[in-house]
Amino acid sequence: MEARTGKKQGMVSFQPVVEQCEGCERIISDEGTAHCTTYVNPAAKWHLGICNFATHAKPEIKVVKVRINPLKAAKRASSRRG
Ligand code: SF4
Repeated sequence: MEARTGKKQGMVSFQPVVEQCEGCERIISDEGTAHCTTYVNPAAKWHLGICNFATHAKPEIKVVKVRINPLKAAKRASSRRG
């Protein structure tokens, strides 16, 4: 079975990094190929969206301002008090 998969017990073959990984601090160069130190398959990590361990890219957080009517807020607060 080991011969078929090309892996030895306790060893994992790391896949090369993908284009989106460029600039990440977790990349190491091994025998001329860039690998990720965190994920075995970087392409799969980026397949569903942003890599959560990426040091060069952060997910965009949308801040939505909600306008609150001060009169309604006061009324709501007073009704909670009893
Ligand atoms: S941590 Fe994520 S972005 Fe960075 S090299 Fe690994 S897979 Fe790529």
